[in-house]
Amino acid sequence: MYPAPFEYHRAATVDEAIALLTQYADDGKLIAGGHSLLPVMKLRFAQPAHLIDIRRVPELAGIREENGVLRIGAATTHAAVASSDVIRARVPVLAEAASRIGDAQVRNMGTIGGSLAHADPAADLPAVALALGAELCVVGRRGARTIPIDGFFTGVFSSALAPDEVLVEVRVPVLPARTGGAYEKYPDPASGYAIVGVAAVVTLGSSGVVERARVAMTGLPAHAVRLAGVEGALTGKPATAEQIEATASRAADGLEVRDSAYKENLAKVYARRAMGRAIDGARA
Ligand SMILES: Cc1cc2nc3c(=O)[nH]c(=O)nc-3n(C[C@H](O)[C@H](O)[C@H](O)COP(=O)(O)OP(=O)(O)OC[C@H]3O[C@@H](n4cnc5c(N)ncnc54)[C@H](O)[C@@H]3O)c2cc1C
Repeated sequence: MYPAPFEYHRAATVDEAIALLTQYADDGKLIAGGHSLLPVMKLRFAQPAHLIDIRRVPELAGIREENGVLRIGAATTHAAVASSDVIRARVPVLAEAASRIGDAQVRNMGTIGGSLAHADPAADLPAVALALGAELCVVGRRGARTIPIDGFFTGVFSSALAPDEVLVEVRVPVLPARTGGAYEKYPDPASGYAIVGVAAVVTLGSSGVVERARVAMTGLPAHAVRLAGVEGALTGKPATAEQIEATASRAADGLEVRDSAYKENLAKVYARRAMGRAIDGARA
């Protein structure tokens, strides 16, 4: 299938992209890597008359560390995230997850900003961003704002981004001491998308007790969510194998997968693996 005809615009700056989005309103759509938007256009689920290419906008490029935070330009490709020395050193779980997205072609084209903005319920990075407590810097007609990742995903393919807003930068706190992170996914064998994916970031106290846990899931829910029951059950407890097992048994609580014992089991198994590996990392 070919997409419906459209006009192509290449924005040189964020301001130009916002002006074009404002000008074309419902007929305009940003395109970064195109690896989510173009398939949707080919299926004619979306038929924007104007595509606004932001891939080469300099303000959306670059990865740098500043005051304990990684600032990642929204147009950074999954391949660049996966191979970035600073991300691998400071927030290895993000590099790990990016390295497992799709195949090499997808990773060379798809971007971190496109993945979060698209809010695909089976995408990997939404769960990882939730576990990491990321913040999203966006700019629109009414100015700039920072959106905490908690509450950013609002439904299937929907988010708190306004139609005229450009996601400019993803801010990720550097992992503190005694903290480990892991992302475990059961991938769809054809696409690599997560049938279930669980990201865990765990901080241990000096006595070996879990001081802080952020655990998030993608794939099974309508959009990536934090597993509040799991986080609550793990925090303040000794980081033992028994505790991880007991905590993981709550991974499907509150999710609408109750009808499927298979999916419930997937949730538990992948939560256990992610938490176990995050705790191993925190001890290392
Ligand atoms: C075969 C295949 C396999 C895949 N496998 C996986 C996988 O295993 N895991 C996974 O997570 N993903 C997977 N993907 C999706 C891939 O990672 C996408 O590239 C990514 O999710 C979207 O990024 P993009 O830059 O391509 O966005 P685009 O397709 O360009 O855009 C997607 C949407 O986001 C909007 N957008 C893009 N950038 C911005 C921005 N800066 N500000 C505001 N809005 C923006 C666009 O307007 C559009 O609505 C796969 C895709 C394909 C084709």
